[in-house]
Amino acid sequence: MSNLERRPDEELAGGLATVSAEPVRRVLQPREVPLGGPRAMLVRRTLPHRGLRSVGAWCFVDDYGPADPAESPMRVPPHPHTGLQTVTWLLDGEVLHQDSVGSSALVRPGALSLMTAGRGISHAETSTPSSPTLRGVQLWVALPDEARETAPAFEHHDALPVHEVGGLSATVVLGRVGDAVSPATTYSPIVGADVQLAAGGGGELPLEPSFEHAVLALSDGLVVDGGEVSRGSLVYLGCGRDRLALTGGGGAARGLLLGGEPFDEELLMWWNFVGRDHDEVEAVRDEWQRAVAGEETRFGRVEGYDGGALPAPALPGVRLRPRGRP
Ligand code: MN
Repeated sequence: MSNLERRPDEELAGGLATVSAEPVRRVLQPREVPLGGPRAMLVRRTLPHRGLRSVGAWCFVDDYGPADPAESPMRVPPHPHTGLQTVTWLLDGEVLHQDSVGSSALVRPGALSLMTAGRGISHAETSTPSSPTLRGVQLWVALPDEARETAPAFEHHDALPVHEVGGLSATVVLGRVGDAVSPATTYSPIVGADVQLAAGGGGELPLEPSFEHAVLALSDGLVVDGGEVSRGSLVYLGCGRDRLALTGGGGAARGLLLGGEPFDEELLMWWNFVGRDHDEVEAVRDEWQRAVAGEETRFGRVEGYDGGALPAPALPGVRLRPRGRP
């Protein structure tokens, strides 16, 4: 997905982004962001947040739908990324992914689409009319400095391991939960798991204590560490936990566990780029604009997409500053 906020620089404003070395329980509310167009789909964004830059290397969390793709289709034209991996995880519906390394893949619920932008990639995403409902999350993982120049790549995983305990079932998207290890390629110590709870069910997830963790509530009625949270909230849990209690309230509940080793590099996130400083972001933006104009660039070309590429927004009049984790 493309970050279509009209003034993406505003994301840099405000707030401390402190890593908590101790367990905490801080509930962050999402903000609604239109994805552009006359019948824009609204997404609920919880990262980056004024109060939290990242959780491990997870640096971008959008939760979208349920929406009727006939009424408000997702149609994101070819756009670039650098310095990150995109994790596309659907709860309902179907999205066609096309990219500049030649991939054309149908993303469906339960299957992971993982795109490593590395030094530069472009892709398009289009919902298909095959399902009456589209619902999903779009996540970005920042690449550590030594992996930022890696070659762009795309991988698709249909068979992900599941950690089950009590009435809790955790599909491991990245990293590991207990003995369940995802086959997906990662570049920093990280975990991501889709946790489903049967009505009245619950259990404890084993966690890596050196990681910081958070849970995105994918349904109402999810009880995280003893407190119920509403759908769309992100519960930041800090570091230092070796387990986490998750239960459903009255009915079935669902949440997304995100965690990782605290990412201590400064990041400059602007539009679809995860860089380190203003000059770098300005250079890749200029290169993308040349790609839109038809030049051969690091971003390649998305074959088979019916339409033009998405131009970058203008840079703000001030120098962009990276954001750290004090
Ligand atoms: Mn994208």
